[in-house]
Amino acid sequence: MNTQVTDHKGGVWSIAVPIPDNPLGHTLVHLLETDRGPVLIDTGWDDPDSWDALVAGVTACGFDVTDLHGVLITHHHPDHHGLSAKVREASGAWIAMHAADAEAVRRTREAEPEQWLDYLLAKLSAAGAPDDHLAPLRKARATGGGRKLPGRRAALPDRGIGPGELLDLPGRRVRAIWTPGHTPGHVCLHLEEAHPSAPAPGFGRLFSGDHLLPGITPHIGLYEAPDGEARPPGPHDLDSSAEDPLGDYLDSLERVGRLAPAEVLPAHQHAFTDAGGRVRALIAHHEERLARLRVLLQEPRTVWQLATAMEWNRPWEQIPYGSRNIAISEAEAHLRRLVKQGRAERVPGSDPVRYQAV
Ligand SMILES: [Zn+2]
Ligand SMILES: [Zn+2]
Repeated sequence: MNTQVTDHKGGVWSIAVPIPDNPLGHTLVHLLETDRGPVLIDTGWDDPDSWDALVAGVTACGFDVTDLHGVLITHHHPDHHGLSAKVREASGAWIAMHAADAEAVRRTREAEPEQWLDYLLAKLSAAGAPDDHLAPLRKARATGGGRKLPGRRAALPDRGIGPGELLDLPGRRVRAIWTPGHTPGHVCLHLEEAHPSAPAPGFGRLFSGDHLLPGITPHIGLYEAPDGEARPPGPHDLDSSAEDPLGDYLDSLERVGRLAPAEVLPAHQHAFTDAGGRVRALIAHHEERLARLRVLLQEPRTVWQLATAMEWNRPWEQIPYGSRNIAISEAEAHLRRLVKQGRAERVPGSDPVRYQAV
């Protein structure tokens, strides 16, 4: 097997664990040596080849998978948390995660496909999606179909990760930085130890999960809760009192920018320096996007109409069905930010709700 392991020195390695059929290619699982045994930061996608790559990677770092002492999860997505159950089974390691993402794991394990379809249908109808977009979901609902969500077998964690907490890792100094936005319970982990080779100014190293990546912007959509309160997400969700994932994300970016780590070890792509520069670029990217959205809202639009008019990495007509739903969620997150900031508002009495610039 072609094991891709990088020794980052000072008892830190990264293992490239493949994500099947995904343009991202792999998750960078980090291994941190502690006095009580190696600890993993994320585990990778739940797939036999990915598992083999992880096991081979741990071996290449000089350990055995049965030696693993613990697993720290940056966030609950299946490319990060997928193999955690297998790791725990093989080694007896504990699994730690922020409570908000542990809740997402619990919901995903319990949600029935019909529940998920009802949730999507309610959400997309409220956004003003046309009938031809809703038809496949209605059909799946009527025929008892519906996809099984990945993560139905995901592990419930054994312990939490609290904001600002210095983690219990004998011989190491790692602080949890709560960075909600990409998910409500996303955490970055700051290794508060002098960098072994000091490639750049700054202190320590930051395991950044999906929060801060060198060449891509993580997806920021609404936090999804198929079994949330009895009320399905609808027009009332987009008021100023509702959650604001993009606002959370931008605040979280500033938080990690202030840490000024010497090096960032992200969960995709590659390690990089100048965290502050990357943070500024991402904040500017979202500010530009919000400004362009506001221009589009000179004319009142539903969320669907807004999403189809926004700029994506390809024309709307070429975006596959599932990705359109993700795009809608991303448009909603940006819209909600504008509403929160008082830069957009609902058009009174419109159904589905239209929004306009203020
Ligand atoms: Zn993710
Ligand atoms: Zn990811």
